[in-house]
Amino acid sequence: MNLLLLVLMLLAGAGLVTSFLAHLAALFVGLPLVLEPFRENIMSTLTMGVFVVWFPAVLIARRATRSERMNLSWRQVLAGCPPWMRGAAYGLLAYALLNFVLQLAGGSPAGGFSEARLASGHWMLFYGAAFCIFYSVMHKPDLQEPSQCPAGHEVGRDDAFCAQCGLPLNTGRQR
Ligand SMILES: [Zn+2]
Repeated sequence: MNLLLLVLMLLAGAGLVTSFLAHLAALFVGLPLVLEPFRENIMSTLTMGVFVVWFPAVLIARRATRSERMNLSWRQVLAGCPPWMRGAAYGLLAYALLNFVLQLAGGSPAGGFSEARLASGHWMLFYGAAFCIFYSVMHKPDLQEPSQCPAGHEVGRDDAFCAQCGLPLNTGRQR
């Protein structure tokens, strides 16, 4: 088991739970009053945390898709996740969009907790997606295995020819 992956997954999980709690606090009146003195700290910590887990998550997702392009195949990246987890990730995406639209349509007063509500909706999505990516490659390590030339030599993902035997590589292949 890859310890770094485990640590990243736990960080993403902690971020997901914390941003979920922050989202509940922002949605319901009463809780925010208790958290108000800590709001700036909570928000800046969660924002930084998103970058900490999201950069490695994107790198891993790109390796899993075997592509340097930006069009990731999420079906492939999340192949190591159980179906309910993939469903939950898509649910978070739908909810983040809904939260965003409702926020625009609702015309709630700017700043303060409406800002926290909007931000925490997006944090949940990023932490949740990162968690699923780490979980996926931990349970399906071959997603991270290096590419091979037709003769079985290890090659870089962007190479046009194998450095050892010179065979051409069909770059851009899915698998
Ligand atoms: Zn070769």
